[in-house]
Amino acid sequence: MAYDDQNIFAKILRGEIPNDTVYEDEYVLAFKDIFPQAPVHVLVIPKGAYISLDDFSANASDVEISAFFRAVGSIARDLGLVDSGYRILANHGANGGQEVPHFHVHIAGGRRLGRMIQPG
Ligand code: AMP
Repeated sequence: MAYDDQNIFAKILRGEIPNDTVYEDEYVLAFKDIFPQAPVHVLVIPKGAYISLDDFSANASDVEISAFFRAVGSIARDLGLVDSGYRILANHGANGGQEVPHFHVHIAGGRRLGRMIQPG
């Protein structure tokens, strides 16, 4: 499967559509989810063109991977979520329910999030 450069996060990275940025560096962009599922719901994406965690973990450089996961922790810290707690989640493919084919991690918090996986 090839990376689709018309996906919505690719358009955000190119500045073609707006986003509510909470963090940006050389490797990473983080912005508020447009349909928040919790009081705090942020998406963290690599700037590189990776389809999902499968692609990112197999093909991204060590620098990209470390920058990404350091950013996830740092963003959660900056959002004030460490003491109250938070969840990170990444969907891959159909069974994971992935809608946007550009790797992203959800950071959710601000309330009790309940069961990790709802019964199907
Ligand atoms: P996933 O199901 O893991 O692929 O999640 C995709 C997420 O992207 C969903 O939570 C959407 O609400 C979110 N989303 C879609 N379009 C946008 C957008 N333009 N700006 C911010 N979040 C978006």
